[in-house]
Amino acid sequence: MKTIQTLALLVLLSGLMLGAPQAQHGAGSSSPQKLIALTFDDGPKPFVLLGGRSSGGLQSESLLAVLQKQGVHATFFVMGWRLAKTADAWCRRVDGGVCRDAAIEEHRDGDEIENHTYGHGNFRLMEKRYGDTWILNDIARCSAVVQSITGVRPQFVRPPDWTIWPALQKKIEAQGYHVMTKAVSRPVRLRDLDSEDYLCAGKDISKCPKPSDYDYVLRHIDQREHEGVYDDILAFHEVPPTVKLVARLIPVLKQRGYRFVLLRNYWAAVSNYPR
Ligand SMILES: [Zn+2]
Repeated sequence: MKTIQTLALLVLLSGLMLGAPQAQHGAGSSSPQKLIALTFDDGPKPFVLLGGRSSGGLQSESLLAVLQKQGVHATFFVMGWRLAKTADAWCRRVDGGVCRDAAIEEHRDGDEIENHTYGHGNFRLMEKRYGDTWILNDIARCSAVVQSITGVRPQFVRPPDWTIWPALQKKIEAQGYHVMTKAVSRPVRLRDLDSEDYLCAGKDISKCPKPSDYDYVLRHIDQREHEGVYDDILAFHEVPPTVKLVARLIPVLKQRGYRFVLLRNYWAAVSNYPR
């Protein structure tokens, strides 16, 4: 009888000990994981992903080559219409290749493809013009075309320009998606960190963060570390200056102990952490 009691006590103790690290994480303010999910919106754009020139004369290094060289994977929030066969001629003419082929390349590389809607219409405008159901259909249409390439239904929707409100967010979540947002209602680790790289591309770069977007992103990561946050979802766009930016950023963050993971793996690892 005494042996059974001792055994029971041992089992109980070992259970408590196994549970201890979990409890520490729960109580602590910092996460030991140091995870980063690199995300890129508005593609696929062949001249950015594969390297080349757009019809507008923009020249880009290959983003996929940069990621491969650094041995990291990323998550691409695509516009569904670019993956349709009907877009092939347009993509070839404007973005230096077939957009769908670039998406196939992303998938082959082990990168993740997620949902940035089919038409990239601002939800406020689309709601006024066509209603909520239209928006949900636009999201479903994007998922279908992504799934035709990856075989997997997207898990995440990033609203164009991050325009979203609670009622619509709930409806999208009811379809089984996580909605990416900058809103304060989110736990900070599950909020997008907006790199503002779109302000540094194109003709007018007067609003690009100073002294550089590279410094801007690092400054925000520093700030988050001060607050005990060591996990970040970095939101970029498929634009040429961003390729150079991430080529500089990745090695520096690696040196600081960060690991780069796909958004779906990031979400699984981080959503269980203290908020
Ligand atoms: Zn966008």
